[in-house]
Amino acid sequence: MRIDLHTHSWVSDGTDAPGDLIRAARAAGLDVVALTDHDTAAGWPEAAAAAAEVGVELVRGMEISTLHEGSTGERHSVHLLGYLPDPSYPPLVEELGRVLGGREQRLPAMIERLRGLGIDITVDDVLAGSPDAAASGRPHVADALVRLGVVADRDEAFERYLSGGRPGYVGRYAAPLVETIGLVRAAGGVTVVAHVWGRSGRRRPDEAGLAALREAGLAGIEVDHQDHSPRDRDALRAIARNLDLVVTGASDYHGSGKKGHDLGVNTTDPEQYARLLDLAAAAARESGRVTPEVVR
Ligand code: AMP
Ligand code: ZN
Ligand code: FE
Ligand code: FE
Repeated sequence: MRIDLHTHSWVSDGTDAPGDLIRAARAAGLDVVALTDHDTAAGWPEAAAAAAEVGVELVRGMEISTLHEGSTGERHSVHLLGYLPDPSYPPLVEELGRVLGGREQRLPAMIERLRGLGIDITVDDVLAGSPDAAASGRPHVADALVRLGVVADRDEAFERYLSGGRPGYVGRYAAPLVETIGLVRAAGGVTVVAHVWGRSGRRRPDEAGLAALREAGLAGIEVDHQDHSPRDRDALRAIARNLDLVVTGASDYHGSGKKGHDLGVNTTDPEQYARLLDLAAAAARESGRVTPEVVR
């Protein structure tokens, strides 16, 4: 059984329609796939219809942009995968609304920065390339820069303009991590920290930090991800074992938007997947919310 628990469609910053993503998952030989667009459940209905049609098992999820304040007061961004929450739970709807509102406000601010650098780009140039996106993001700005011939690809756009500290970068609102773990659980879902040591390369949160997140209700760690070195994967696997956290693996597929993240490039062990579903079922019972079923 091949299980991939982290993918993006064009509802956020992937490049496939949700239904096409499901068909691509089938073609890639996956048995189970989770759709986890950034900060939105907008792709769920289309993905669920396609999954029922082609016979792929679908876990409806989302990847929530959060900010974690560590014990020593340092702050870092954490992407939190939320699986199977009731998407109509009002506090969750409100929090996602704040995050999406922050994305919306940031777009014109980034465009102003880029225009200030002499690049002739408009908000409409960006929106024209992502008509189906419910969550706008830097990758959409990157794609517009590619279309305008300013850069060759998304990577170059991030390196030159959009990464933190680069001249086109603008921050945005992110949800508080610990509260959001509780929020997803109160919505009847479960949470897994995505690529937790990726990108920054700072190995934060460390084991003590992850233990605190487990106390807050965290269910698992995404260990097998392209942004983690073999050493980091081993270390995270050991931490997950010590803390009795679920271990997942996933592609973080973005269609043609991210190289090296093909569907199924990392997968989740079926036993770990079963544990995650058990925890989701328990959360659903405790919350009393009506949560999405896994499409089988
Ligand atoms: P945002 O959500 O707007 O803050 O943009 C962050 C997203 O951009 C991440 O979730 C990735 O999907 C994507 N991303 C970040 N860095 C890069 C990069 N160097 N190349 C391509 N995509 C990236
Ligand atoms: Zn993304
Ligand atoms: Fe992420
Ligand atoms: Fe992702």
